[in-house]
Amino acid sequence: MLPDVQNLMELQQADREILRLKDEIAALPKRVAVIEQKLAGTKAVLENAKTAVKADEAARRKHETAIQDQQQKISKYRDQSLEVKTNDQYKALMHEIQFAEQDIRANEDKILELMVNAEAREKGVKAAEIELKAEMAEIEKEKADARERTAADEKELKEWSGKREKARAGVNPDLLRHYDRVSKFRGTGLAEVRDQKCMGCQMLLRPQTFNEVRGGQMIICESCQRILYFDPASETAEQAHAATRRRRPRPKADADQAWYYRAEYHDHGEVFLVFINAEGNSSRHAYDAHSGRKMGETENLAGDYHTAFAVDLAHAIRLNGGWPASEIEEWGTEMPTRALDSLFADLHAARAETAKGHVHSGHAEAITSEHPAAS
Ligand SMILES: [Zn+2]
Repeated sequence: MLPDVQNLMELQQADREILRLKDEIAALPKRVAVIEQKLAGTKAVLENAKTAVKADEAARRKHETAIQDQQQKISKYRDQSLEVKTNDQYKALMHEIQFAEQDIRANEDKILELMVNAEAREKGVKAAEIELKAEMAEIEKEKADARERTAADEKELKEWSGKREKARAGVNPDLLRHYDRVSKFRGTGLAEVRDQKCMGCQMLLRPQTFNEVRGGQMIICESCQRILYFDPASETAEQAHAATRRRRPRPKADADQAWYYRAEYHDHGEVFLVFINAEGNSSRHAYDAHSGRKMGETENLAGDYHTAFAVDLAHAIRLNGGWPASEIEEWGTEMPTRALDSLFADLHAARAETAKGHVHSGHAEAITSEHPAAS
């Protein structure tokens, strides 16, 4: 892997961690604020309950005073009644006494009512006091936790900032500017390539682009502008996973048309070869694996391709693929992208099978090198 890419990976991780820590540090006081708000609510409930108790006590004293006043009046009327001269005056005093007694009973009823209410009010005050105490303890604990967490986060943040600076110093300035620009708009500036796809935008890469990234070249995703990198470790995992998901069909050994991949072919690098048997003769077309361009003229020989082109089949990987011979002729000097993609996808699957050890003895020709002696 290129040192620039290695540093960008470290930079991206540092950027992500810094963002997470900053978010967490910002969220901590908010959590404390929520509990503080709840605490203020409970305090208000308690204050109201206490005020109500005081109001009831004042009302009770007022009723008690009223009773005493009426009792004094009654006693005064009784004294006067001993001195009255007429029956009418006597009756009037008795009437007053009756009124005062009625008023005393009314006040006594009110006091009784207040006494009953007082029990409920006391319970309310006690409950609010208990809740307040619990909330106070909770908020203290929460504040202590927040302080501790913030301190730990800030320490970690400092460490990541150091790592970030170190990573940035190790990246080419132009590339760093590109990374920063894309990160600003897309959240990330670097994307892994997996399964021939940019993991940032899920766009399928052209086989050539994929091979360039795989080969360690600095490539930018055409679709999302992220800097692409390839991690062989995750490809192996991905392929192993894909292989367990879906078994690759085995190419037929006796097919009239057979596609092969070779990592080296004469002076060329990677190629795709197709052999076609027709009426006792066989032909060979060779294509550059990256551009899909046809290499040289079609070669025709007498006999079955297994025998006629035996030399070409050594160290070749047999692939799944089949197009009518007339269509292959129509391609002319360049294989269409869909055919190239299809061959690459099968090559990918064949390699994954090999990596996973899905090669059954006797079926080895399906995916590994085919030696003329074996056929
Ligand atoms: Zn992309």
